[in-house]
Amino acid sequence: MEKDIFCRIIDGEIPCHKLYEDDDVLAFLDISQVTKGHALVVSKKHYDNFLSIPQEEMHKVMDVAQKIGQVDIKFLGARGVNILTNCYEAAGQTVMHFHVHVIPRYEGKEGFILEMKGNEEKLNLPAIAEKVKINLK
Ligand code: 5GP
Repeated sequence: MEKDIFCRIIDGEIPCHKLYEDDDVLAFLDISQVTKGHALVVSKKHYDNFLSIPQEEMHKVMDVAQKIGQVDIKFLGARGVNILTNCYEAAGQTVMHFHVHVIPRYEGKEGFILEMKGNEEKLNLPAIAEKVKINLK
């Protein structure tokens, strides 16, 4: 069976801006950056989604998602955080490997920013990753 993209990132075949890693969990910046610092937290072992991962392993992923959310508020200037996981294509899941999105929300001129709206090129991904990484320790 062909490896999914997150298995390839976990195996080091595809680069990522890493935020956190232990034996069971990997966290890195989402390539699409819905907002600055948008992170993905994945289980290293392959499970299709939240509905199929064993509880104990799911908890390890959620622990890391919680810590990243706390860092987003404390150190990235986020005013809020969305923590979400899509299950199956019908619910918007595009990568069939369990992952949790941690999406910081910032205050903008017109209220809370919901997307980067073409500002992606202004993001310095290595610098953002470093800031989250050092504060997760
Ligand atoms: P889903 O729609 O399955 O909940 O989210 C999948 C996410 O994976 C998307 O937000 C997408 O931007 C992200 N993604 C897809 N391919 C890559 C990749 O190669 N690297 C990174 N860092 N993120 C990816």
